[in-house]
Amino acid sequence: MPSTQKIEEILDYIKECSPGQNEFYQASQEVLYSLLPLLNRESKYVENNILERIVVPERSIIFRVNWMDDAGKVQTNLGYRVQFSSSIGPYKGGLRFHPTVNLGIVKFLGFEQIFKNALTGLQIGGAKGGSNFDPKGKSDSEIMHFCQAFMSELYKHIGKNRDVPAGDIGVGAREIGYLFGQYKRLTGEFDGVLTGKGLDWGGSKGRKEATGYGSVYFAENFLKVYNQALKGKVCTVSGSGNVAIYTMEKLYGFDAIPVSCSDSKGTIYHAKGIDMESLKSIKEIHKESLKSYVTLHPDAIYTPVASYPEGGHAVWHIPCDIAFPSATQNELTLVDAKVLESNGCILINEGANMPTTADALEYIRKESKILFSPGKAANAGGVATSQLEMSQNASMAQWTFEEVDIKLRTIMNDIFKTAYETSVEFDCEGDLVKGANIAGFRKVADAMIEQGAI
Ligand code: NDP
Repeated sequence: MPSTQKIEEILDYIKECSPGQNEFYQASQEVLYSLLPLLNRESKYVENNILERIVVPERSIIFRVNWMDDAGKVQTNLGYRVQFSSSIGPYKGGLRFHPTVNLGIVKFLGFEQIFKNALTGLQIGGAKGGSNFDPKGKSDSEIMHFCQAFMSELYKHIGKNRDVPAGDIGVGAREIGYLFGQYKRLTGEFDGVLTGKGLDWGGSKGRKEATGYGSVYFAENFLKVYNQALKGKVCTVSGSGNVAIYTMEKLYGFDAIPVSCSDSKGTIYHAKGIDMESLKSIKEIHKESLKSYVTLHPDAIYTPVASYPEGGHAVWHIPCDIAFPSATQNELTLVDAKVLESNGCILINEGANMPTTADALEYIRKESKILFSPGKAANAGGVATSQLEMSQNASMAQWTFEEVDIKLRTIMNDIFKTAYETSVEFDCEGDLVKGANIAGFRKVADAMIEQGAI
């Protein structure tokens, strides 16, 4: 059967069995179609029903999380852990606490994680988890009570050789600490079951910076192929969380100029370059809205979400050489992509997971001249450094920041090389969507075939 027909059948199956899981459908569609050159060349993947198998998680766990708020009332949220694939190693992927979390979001993130983790060249399988709990506006003790209740169920399903969760949106060092404390209390084990831990109790130096720094290392690699460099480039960045902040920090390290950042309420444009000290103080220390940035820097412009262009986002309408979407999924639309093209943007480098909508991606790849780095390759530095944390935990070692950063840079160079060389191998030089998906898929699929019908 021609592979296109096979892919359509599988997508129909996903639609039927996962109704309303739009982001999961979007991610599956992108991955499956990009595999066509491989499927047409090698029949073993279709013959072994790999496509049917890989789109179904090995296990999806959904659980109730009851926790006590500060008023003494019991609150209820939903908890998820989707263990997608353990073909090449223990499940690995972050936990997201955000009101938009549902099974479809966790499945899309877990599915992407399979290929991302394979691309790192490390032995880690794919998973993702989280809750529709909203940490915003909660007290420290409410966050702790929620994390303890969440782990009271999750601990049954994870372990250092089984499934190793980490952070994501809404889950940073504080939440990992509370989750780890509860895991230890319940199991009596002090081990590397979570990554993103505190530096004094098993964490890795450089983990906090890894996704953002890695994203910039990836962009530098891509530009080099076209005889370009980051130096002097005007860069727009969305988000103002972990990934966005350390993307901007590393951009300054390459003498590029990050001129924007955003949060769920609005966008800052600061033409002379975002002031990192002010941004870190607002977001990391005081956890305030970005609006306060203009009080410190009156020459910056703040655009609230309510006045974003229809079908678009203010941040992508700022003229730039390179765009780094680093906030959340589907935050860069077709409208935005067209404006980026007309403003002369040469590269979109995804820091977030699937920040580009399907129609925008199609336009960028087929109708524009913009280079495109897919998130599953460009943001893999975070999970790669999580694996470095696991290695340090297993050997009871702690590497210096410089040692971790050198390893991260080598891994990002290798990920780029793998994705790029695979695009060349399949006659689509520079199409890193195909290159990354094919390279990641091939590794996992071969392992599935070698391990038999499990
Ligand atoms: P954070 O929670 O630290 O920051 C997220 C940022 O995005 C915040 O500025 C937040 O604004 C903004 N944001 C979140 N949701 C929305 C929304 N619906 N609309 C507009 N803005 C939004 O998360 P991270 O920086 O860790 O993660 C960002 C992205 O990178 C995610 O896609 C994540 O999956 C991906 N990623 C993260 C990795 C990591 O190591 N942390 C690794 C690989 C990928 P506000 O504060 O107002 O909510």
